Amino acid sequence: MEKKRKKPDPVNLSATHDLTSMDSSTSEHKRRSKRFKSSSFINICVICGSDCKTVKQKKIHKLLRVCEKLMAQKLLNTAIFFKDCVYTATAAMYEPEDVFAADLYYHSYCYKDYFNKYNADIEEILKSLEEEDSITAGDESFKEQFLALGLDFTTTACSLTSIRERLNEHLSVPVSNRAVKHLIIELYGDAVCFTYPSNKRISQMGFSVKSNPESLLESMRQVSPVQQVATELAQELKDYKFGLERSFCEP
Ligand SMILES: [Zn+2]
Repeated sequence: MEKKRKKPDPVNLSATHDLTSMDSSTSEHKRRSKRFKSSSFINICVICGSDCKTVKQKKIHKLLRVCEKLMAQKLLNTAIFFKDCVYTATAAMYEPEDVFAADLYYHSYCYKDYFNKYNADIEEILKSLEEEDSITAGDESFKEQFLALGLDFTTTACSLTSIRERLNEHLSVPVSNRAVKHLIIELYGDAVCFTYPSNKRISQMGFSVKSNPESLLESMRQVSPVQQVATELAQELKDYKFGLERSFCEP
């Protein structure tokens, strides 16, 4: 087996770094510490929840304190991404100073494993987005179908979801809202604007910068989600054969 070379570990280095300049024991730090007193994680690793980590029968006891700003921020971001036990533990923390005040500890093994997993997941997401882009970019029928919809953004505000649904009825490879938005930008540039709803469940709307407010309001009223669903349901029900009559009539 290859003998491991002893080299300085950036994680350990940061952890053993003199903290006085970072924490500077100000009243602000004391105030924060008081706030997180109930959520003290001293003596346990915030990632695995244990005081000692065992990997392949080898115990890794050393607990290190999170004391580097970049690392603390990354920990908060990663926790938001995974929505895991670290997220639960850090839910009340918004910035690195909160993490320092709460005195969070970790095992370097858990830390590396946690962030490697995060980086791999992010890479995977980016890869699939790239793939999706290359599929839709090369698909001329996507553009053709879009143009066939005959959308006029100067008189209508259209939600990306409704456009996507109409397109996917005709496309062999389903497209995403993101791909629809890309195509609109490609075709119209900055002549079409998008809304950015704070509620992520509400679809983005596209509308022309040249459109007048009256026609926009009128068109948005027409795309009321309730009305849209009701219309679609009515259409579905009209064509749907329940097939109950025969079985009911049979003895
Ligand atoms: Zn751990």
